[in-house]
Amino acid sequence: MASSTISRQVQELRQRQLRQWPLVRDNYAALEQAQLRELWLGDSLVVLQHNPERRRSAAARVDAAALAARPCFLCREHQPAEQETVEWGSGRYKIQVNPYPIFPVHLTVSASAHTPQSLADPGRITDMLALAHDLPDCVVFYNGPQCGASAPDHFHFQAGSMAMLPLCAEVADDLAWPDECRLEGNEEGFIAFSQRFGRFLFFIKTATTVQAQLYFARLQLAMMLATGQAGEPMQNLLCWIHGGDCCLAVFPRRKHRPACYGEGEGQLLLSPASTEMGGLWAVASDRDYGLLDAQRIQALYDELCVDAAAAVAIIDNYFKTKQLNNG
Ligand SMILES: [Zn+2]
Repeated sequence: MASSTISRQVQELRQRQLRQWPLVRDNYAALEQAQLRELWLGDSLVVLQHNPERRRSAAARVDAAALAARPCFLCREHQPAEQETVEWGSGRYKIQVNPYPIFPVHLTVSASAHTPQSLADPGRITDMLALAHDLPDCVVFYNGPQCGASAPDHFHFQAGSMAMLPLCAEVADDLAWPDECRLEGNEEGFIAFSQRFGRFLFFIKTATTVQAQLYFARLQLAMMLATGQAGEPMQNLLCWIHGGDCCLAVFPRRKHRPACYGEGEGQLLLSPASTEMGGLWAVASDRDYGLLDAQRIQALYDELCVDAAAAVAIIDNYFKTKQLNNG
């Protein structure tokens, strides 16, 4: 379906839900009043958003026992009667309004079937890129099953207003990616790495979906080889369209929640995931919102993202993977 058609359907869905579902109306109205504070990590912007409704997400239990004991909130039969959906991807996904927003437009795009959060099927990345094309004002994000996915047992992307994520504009400038950072590329696009935004990331920017898929597949293999573990590496992904190019930012993680996670003295109720990697931190607690500063945010990125040795291991493995593919 043409992207303008999906965009319009989603806009209408959002308007309907705002009119008919008091929880959505109240939470989006509250978001408009949310306090924001800007911090700088070098020349990279981080925005703190005071958002008490995100407590349920930050405090959610996502261990196997908790998952088994709760009805899956992405399965249609357990959703509130007011929740409406728009079908996407030939019926394989349902787009719905997230009732606990961080963004003025905040969507959950869940698989129509109850199937685990995993990118093992390469079709998922193809879907992510297609979704970004269909929602051109949004950034589409994916949280790995151990890195912030609130329903690791039910596959889902989310999408939110692109203008709210500072990193999208910061990385889109090609000057941010000098040759020495590039893993490979050609006239169509490139894959590169960087630590200059205060957190380590890989960035793919290409004119074609096929090239984005190829680079991403090599990167996933390199990340798996670097951890030495089977299965999906810990990661958060952001995907959007800039000037017609596919942009895909991949943040390899070593930890989901920080050591200071909690609500006690000296603790912070933070469960950083894709949006925090993108530079927007939704902070549920008043006290945490007052305490956080650039130094603390930098320490959190340092603790949660891969360190220099792990980054080098991934880069080395990327070159090996590339050679194997070419040889
Ligand atoms: Zn489900």
